[in-house]
Amino acid sequence: MMPMSGELSLVLTFGTMVCLAILLFFLFRQPGSADPWKINRSAIKLGKRLGEGSFGEVYQGLYNNTPVAVKTLIPGTMDPRDFLKEAQIMKTMQHPNLIQLLAVCTEQPIYIITELMKNGSLLDYLKVRVGRLRLYDQIEMAAQVASGMDYLEMKNYIHRDLAARNVLVGENNVYKVADFGLARVLQATPMLSSQSKLYYIPVGKAIFPLRWTAPEAIANERFTIKCDVWSFGILLYEIMTYGKIPYPDLNNSQVKRMVPNGYRMPCPVDPYCSKDVYKIMLDCWKENKHDRPTFRSLKITLRNVRV
Ligand code: AMP
Repeated sequence: MMPMSGELSLVLTFGTMVCLAILLFFLFRQPGSADPWKINRSAIKLGKRLGEGSFGEVYQGLYNNTPVAVKTLIPGTMDPRDFLKEAQIMKTMQHPNLIQLLAVCTEQPIYIITELMKNGSLLDYLKVRVGRLRLYDQIEMAAQVASGMDYLEMKNYIHRDLAARNVLVGENNVYKVADFGLARVLQATPMLSSQSKLYYIPVGKAIFPLRWTAPEAIANERFTIKCDVWSFGILLYEIMTYGKIPYPDLNNSQVKRMVPNGYRMPCPVDPYCSKDVYKIMLDCWKENKHDRPTFRSLKITLRNVRV
């Protein structure tokens, strides 16, 4: 063997060290440090408008040649830094009954890029099918939502805005929970659309969906997974009534005063709601949050409802 010159061995040692450093960089890189989820707006091609949500418009789009949904947020509805922190968690939530977050653009207006759901929101889906669904279909919707929420419960993650408007409908009767975690970073702003003023009221610096929120969450300004269970009971009411607004006969101040004093919506009669399903709603609306069921048990109970 030829003896190595001093210079050659120095170059080789230096080269080895550089390779080692690159290897270590990729091995121990923090997933959030060079965030591949944070993309440039130019990576998105906006297409037709899909609808208007409470906090901005939603468009169909193309990202990496894949059809996606692009939610645009009205500037001022959230602090981009808070949102990015929450998005880091949201993107790790993966379940067949949860909308998958694909990417975010964090310059104003913020873009949230998610999987596309062909049939839009569950609220709209219900409203155009009044009287045309079987109890079996309605239970299936609720059971799939409970399944997605069971996953969030297991991950100790709280939705804070569970409602039919935040469930999306795909092909072949697939239902997915959307917008989990977003409510945490939303701020009270005069820029809210007129639609959101119908659902949300300002509480401190935040906004709460009054008719879907458990009374203790409004009182303490603190959410728990048991508040999501309360909202699930309201969502079940929306499913059974084909998208009626909860507490249809009460104004906001009556809801704020009467619900903490024990008032609960009666069993819907038109459209008819089975006593078994109404019992589930009442369980979700128990005053003591610890008496409310878990999403795991709701999933099982729904699978056993007589249809
Ligand atoms: P949102 O801002 O989530 O309330 O959405 C407003 C409307 O946009 C909804 O009612 C849907 O019709 C539509 N939309 C939102 N997200 C999606 C999605 N991922 N796929 C298809 N349509 C969507």
